[in-house]
Amino acid sequence: MDTKAFKRSLQKSENYHRKGFGHDAEVAGVLNNEYQSDLIQTIRNNNYVLQKGEVTIRLAEAFGFCWGVERAVAMAYETRQHFPTEKIWITNEIIHNPSVNQHLRYMNVGFIEVIDDKKDFSVVNTGDVVILPAFGASVQEMQLLNDRGCTIVDTTCPWVSKVWNSVEKHKKRDYTSIIHGKYNHEETIATSSFADKYLIVLNMAQAQYVSNYMLNGGDRAEFLSKFHNAYSEGFDPDKDLERIGIANQTTMLKSETEQIGKLFEQTLLKKYGPVEFNNHFMSFNTICDATQERQDAMLNLVEEDLSLMVVIGGFNSSNTTHLQEIAIERGFDSYHIDSVDRIIDANAIEHKPLAQDIQIQENWLPEGAITVGVTSGASTPDKVVADVIKKIFDLKTS
Ligand code: SF4
Repeated sequence: MDTKAFKRSLQKSENYHRKGFGHDAEVAGVLNNEYQSDLIQTIRNNNYVLQKGEVTIRLAEAFGFCWGVERAVAMAYETRQHFPTEKIWITNEIIHNPSVNQHLRYMNVGFIEVIDDKKDFSVVNTGDVVILPAFGASVQEMQLLNDRGCTIVDTTCPWVSKVWNSVEKHKKRDYTSIIHGKYNHEETIATSSFADKYLIVLNMAQAQYVSNYMLNGGDRAEFLSKFHNAYSEGFDPDKDLERIGIANQTTMLKSETEQIGKLFEQTLLKKYGPVEFNNHFMSFNTICDATQERQDAMLNLVEEDLSLMVVIGGFNSSNTTHLQEIAIERGFDSYHIDSVDRIIDANAIEHKPLAQDIQIQENWLPEGAITVGVTSGASTPDKVVADVIKKIFDLKTS
């Protein structure tokens, strides 16, 4: 499919919207009420520190809602205002935050259900309005909705679109896109839908395996089984790794994306030499600023003398999980929670350790004076962070 031509024609359609509808002022007031917090503003103004009794809170200097998320949520609210009576659907969670998605449900926005691992678009009718979330939608979904005569409101973050453009460039030169991401994450599903040939690598260990295969060959069957579900149909590691372009899920660990890019650059330099190299490798900087700033702020925060850390964000939020990874790597007791309700009391917190199921940790809040490092992912409203901080203050003073 000529995805570029399709997107170009979609963008010209009067049923396609990727800017707001001019209700910014009304929506800004509502969003402020629902998601902002005076307490967080106070802490920001106080150099990201607040002390109360035995508790000192140290906030990361960049955390919470990013520009792309704010924009997507505002567009979703505007869509409801602009189409007050139409049936409105969203192809997935608008962002990975339970409270924001719940607000959309209250506004009577329907979420497309997944049945047997497939989205059930049978509920969507001609004339319905369909919102595409911040991390985008696959080109096949866009085509289906367009063919069905729906109005499409596309809130895809421009940073994600930038990655899609890179993938289009790889395709144009018949390069295979190597995507650093999670093969089942919505953003990576969308990104790979724009590629012709692609391979998704999750981390440095997988990238090293691929690099080794490129240089030394290996067991083809083992390769294909290892990357099951993570490559394009008909992908052949013996033929399709000769010319590659690098792309990424925007919320992966920035340092790892950079290392993976460098690893493949070195691999191809070694394999083809400096003269031929440029005919085998393409890379563009597509790490989003917001992800980078939040990870950098976390790296500063873990230099502080902290008693524990609380990382707040959806459990399926990739960028939040990477913040948690940074805390765990530095050896902190760090609790990833998605809302204040996970804090049961001073003795028990329900949290999600890395790559494990949710579990309850007892005696999580130390006795005496403590310093708690707090951060949140790009899809977490300030209000959720404020609720957590208030609860910690309450538990230590009651
Ligand atoms: S984290 Fe980056 S790519 Fe994702 S929505 Fe925010 S600004 Fe866009």
